[in-house]
Amino acid sequence: MDRYEILKDIGSGSFAVAKLVRDNFTKELFAVKFIERGHKIDEHVQREIMNHRSLKHPNIVRFKEVLLTPTHLAIVMEYAAGGELFERISNAGRFTEDEARFFFQQLISGVSYCHSMQICHRDLKLENTLLDGSTAPRVKICDFGYSKSSVFHSQPKSTVGTPAYIAPEVLTRKEYDGKIADVWSCGVTLYVMLFGAYPFEDPEDPKDFSKTIGRILSVQYSIPDYVRVAMECRHLLSQIFVANPEKRISVPEIRNHPWFLRNLPIELLEGGNLESNDINNPSQSVEEVLSIIEEARKSLSIPKVGGLLTEGSMDLDDLDADVDLEDIETSGDFVCHSL
Ligand code: ADP
Ligand code: MG
Repeated sequence: MDRYEILKDIGSGSFAVAKLVRDNFTKELFAVKFIERGHKIDEHVQREIMNHRSLKHPNIVRFKEVLLTPTHLAIVMEYAAGGELFERISNAGRFTEDEARFFFQQLISGVSYCHSMQICHRDLKLENTLLDGSTAPRVKICDFGYSKSSVFHSQPKSTVGTPAYIAPEVLTRKEYDGKIADVWSCGVTLYVMLFGAYPFEDPEDPKDFSKTIGRILSVQYSIPDYVRVAMECRHLLSQIFVANPEKRISVPEIRNHPWFLRNLPIELLEGGNLESNDINNPSQSVEEVLSIIEEARKSLSIPKVGGLLTEGSMDLDDLDADVDLEDIETSGDFVCHSL
């Protein structure tokens, strides 16, 4: 980390803290996500890094490199100076239909790319949808902590995500299609942008997760009558909020939906020229990244009486990457913010 000067805290989720740093040589700004070394460096973190580093798209925060500090694993990435979409909505109350579509088009563009790389995100929400610093802000999806690759990992089984955004089949099915579950979460994001409230929360009792989950399972939501939105927009939401994942609209179908296509920026057209800044050139090799993760898994060296240094007692080498830990996985992210 000597190369970077830490400037300030920029955010925290349920696992990590993110800080703004400046490269001492190039003076460029980056974001660094710090995750404590030791047992927190688990399969999810490994997947997060391996999946994230393989993605290169203008609507996805670009991965740069991983580093070790004496206490943390540091993921260096593109800095999204505009902050969370969540903050913007909290401040604005809600967006106009045009604004909501502008952000939704970019969100879908990024998600569509992830899916084309066989990666599902599984925690799409306003807090993980960042913006860059430009005047017409560009969406930057972050946090691949729950992501899964259908090439390298098994079919998703575990209930991960955030209650307000979780698709019904994630709660009920033994296995589910992560891509179709992502569509539901994008629908929740769209709904919040348009109406400034979560679709499946009881406004009287927003913190009652079991009530929220009951409403998700019965697809109980309404379109507030105080907001005017086009019929096409309501139609799209009704195609997304479908309990049966086989009947839910898919990402390619969303990209052809009339509401989505309205005012679609040319660069977001399918097959458009998607330029992404290359900040990790030359990039770390897979072997290098894996060995840093492996090193970070070891607990810290603790001085023993007598001054001898010992390695921490947890032997995480036994954590074979092929072992599917999903059956014992529980979500650590079962919180969501109120608007
Ligand atoms: P967690 O896994 O703990 O949820 P995140 O990767 O979501 O961690 O990071 C936590 C928060 O830090 C984000 O919600 C966001 O506010 C901020 N953050 C993360 N990455 C960046 C980034 N590249 N640029 C700007 N802010 C970021
Ligand atoms: Mg997060």
